[in-house]
This record gives sequence, C-alpha cells and structure tokens, in this order.
Amino acid sequence: MTANATRVLVLNSGSSSVKYQLLDMGSGTRLAVGLVERIGEETSRLSHTPLATGGDKRETEGPIADHDAALKAVAAELAADGLGLDSPELAAIGHRVVHGGLKFTAPTVIDDAVLKEIERLVPVAPLHNPANLTGIRTAQALRPDLPQVAVFDTAFHTTMPEYAARYAIDVETADAHRIRRYGFHGTSHAYVSRKTAALLGKDPSEVNVIVLHLGNGASASAVAGGRCVDTSMGLTPLEGLVMGTRSGDIDPAVTFHLRRVAGMSTDEIDVLLNKKSGLVGLCGDNDMREIRRRIDEGDERAELAFDIYIHRLKKYIGAYTAVLGRVDAVAFTAGVGENAAPVREAALAGLEELGMAVDASRNAVRSDEPRLISPDSARVAVAVVPTDEELEIAQQTYALVNA
Ligand code: ADP
Repeated sequence: MTANATRVLVLNSGSSSVKYQLLDMGSGTRLAVGLVERIGEETSRLSHTPLATGGDKRETEGPIADHDAALKAVAAELAADGLGLDSPELAAIGHRVVHGGLKFTAPTVIDDAVLKEIERLVPVAPLHNPANLTGIRTAQALRPDLPQVAVFDTAFHTTMPEYAARYAIDVETADAHRIRRYGFHGTSHAYVSRKTAALLGKDPSEVNVIVLHLGNGASASAVAGGRCVDTSMGLTPLEGLVMGTRSGDIDPAVTFHLRRVAGMSTDEIDVLLNKKSGLVGLCGDNDMREIRRRIDEGDERAELAFDIYIHRLKKYIGAYTAVLGRVDAVAFTAGVGENAAPVREAALAGLEELGMAVDASRNAVRSDEPRLISPDSARVAVAVVPTDEELEIAQQTYALVNA
C-alpha cells in the first residue's frame, strides 16, 4: 500500500445485488455510493451517485449478467469520476460477510484459508455467504494486488457468554451441525453502541446499552461495557423481533404442525416464515410509514400488526434490562428506529418503573445526528443513533491494513 492510499471501497454483495461505497479515510468523506440491483435479470439497474464531484445520481438500466459484470460496471462508473479502482489511492476493499461462525471474531484480511472457512459456513448461511464469496472473488480478480478484508456481521456477537449463545437442545446434535445463536447486524450494533457511549460523553467500557436495530430486518442486543452479552437473532436472522417480513420468535412446533397438518414442504415453511410473515404477513404491508398511515385511517389490521410488533420489542427491552442489571441507554437505529417516532414512543410507554421515558417534543425532532429523546430527569438515556454500517466496515478495514 502506498503512503497516500486512504480510500476504501466497501462492498455488500447480496444474491442479486451489490451495494457499494467509496470512502476516503483521510478526510472522512464519502466519495461515491451506489447499488446494482437485479443482477442476472434483463432489467438490472445500476444507480451511482458521485458525491466527490457533487454530480447527480446516474441510473443505467439493462442486463447485467453476473457479479463480475456488475463490479466491472461499478468500476467503470467510478473511473468516469476519476475514482477508478486502479488508483494508487485505493488502500483496500472491505467486504461485508454475513456469517463468520465462531472463528472470525474480528475483521480479517482475506486469503485462501479465510475463503475456505467462509465457504465452510455456507450451510449455516445458505442465502448470504455464497453471494459474499462471489463478491470477494470478483473483487480479487479485479485487483489481485490489493488487500481485501472481510468484516463479519456475526463478529461483534462472539463475546456472548455460552449460556446466551447455546440453545437448550442435545449438545452432540447441536455441535455436529454447528447449531447455536450467532446473531447478526453486528457491525451496526458495534457502531451504534459506541456512538451512544460517545453521545453520553463516556467510554464504551463504562456503559450498558440496549441497541434496537429496527430496519426491514430487526434485532436487539444487550451490550455491557462495549461487549455484546446477548442478541435477539440466532442461528439465522429469523429469530427474535417481529420484522418486515420475518416472524421472529415462534414456537418451533409451529413448523412441525405446518408440515404434518398443513402439508407444507420445508422450503415452503422457510418462505412463509422469512418472506411472508412479520408485518407483511400480519397486515399486508411491511413499511412502517404505510402502517402508520393506515392506523390513522382506523385500519384495525394495521393496528394489530403494530401492537404485536411493539409488544415483542417491549419484551426484549425488559429481558435485556434484566440481563444487563443496569441500563444506561436504549438506542434506536435503522430505518424504523431512526424515523418512526410512534414506534419509539410506544416501545417505551409504561416502562417508567425501569427508568425509561420518551420526551414527546424531543422524539418528534427529525435529524441525521445522534440525539437524546429522553427527558433530562430520566434514569436511562434514550437515544436515536443513525447507523452507518459502511463507515464501520471502512474504518475496520482501514485500521486493519494500516496495523
Ligand atoms: P434494511 O436495511 O433492513 O433493508 P432499513 O434500515 O433501510 O432496512 O429500514 C427500512 C424500513 O424503515 C422500511 O421498510 C420502513 O418500514 C422504515 N422507514 C423508513 N423511513 C421511514 C419513515 N420516515 N418513517 C417510518 N418508517 C420508515
């Protein structure tokens, strides 16, 4: 790496999409952001915003056959802005990798052994790890000389004590199939818990935080002194909170019942619980804005969906209060957590005995900045802390290649 190499390209490769950001770690600025969608279809689309030049968003439609073609198209867009991937200023590429199992507890420079291990984890992350691997291999082919770093969604949760990470099932069966609670959204939980400590003017080691990452996927975590001690997602991102399209916690016997009584196949049940449940299953909508609009019009189904969502959230807040013993802050983040004031208000309503309360006028403020929404008198600080997983991946990547 050359001395003035301060740029990091962050890649988040999904099965049919690639999200990317180019950041300059020297100045702390975002140079370009974009997304390739519907890879492999006729109607692929690339949207690219060259922030460095202040240019408008550019959108290109037309077939993009595979990840290789997608990344080459991204490289061409960046080159058109003078930000090409062949630039000596590019220090590294940071990849979001969903499942790192137990082995990867920190960001890792990718070599053949690392690739093999990510591949070995495909059975526990069949939807995500193959796409992440494709993204890595494609980027390696494009810049074989450049350090590529994997930043794992699971890493932050590897500090969970064994009693929080294990399911109470037969130990031999669990171990033979690597069945345990791994947790996800770790990059966000790490970033937000640290930012929350900073908002309180404290070091992360001094505070206990409940982080509520409420996006389309949603998870809660209990973070004690900067270390995750529990989180709501498990072997897969299906466990825990009610989400946009996922059920979150259910009695596992529901799945036996669906097989035996409803005659559904394993794949059909998988689709039901991951794609057709949660808010969308309950009321037909998974966008919280739309749900609130329907509630305002008196729609009872939307209201029940909202109440179920809030009830689950409240139970996790209570559970994690008990797990942590002392809570210094509750932090809301991601699409719903950052934007939906009614969700924040409802989730903490009636929790005054736990020292938690929301100030109505503070909660109504819209802002991209971390902020407190609890009254000054509250024992527990309630915060809205916008997440930035790409920045966190870039920072971890840059720190590792400069170590
Ligand atoms: P993900 O990264 O999991 O796809 P996001 O964190 O971007 O999700 O969150 C997307 C969700 O955020 C949307 O489905 C919607 O429910 C919610 N959301 C976004 N903007 C608002 C808003 N202004 N008010 C309420 N909810 C919002």
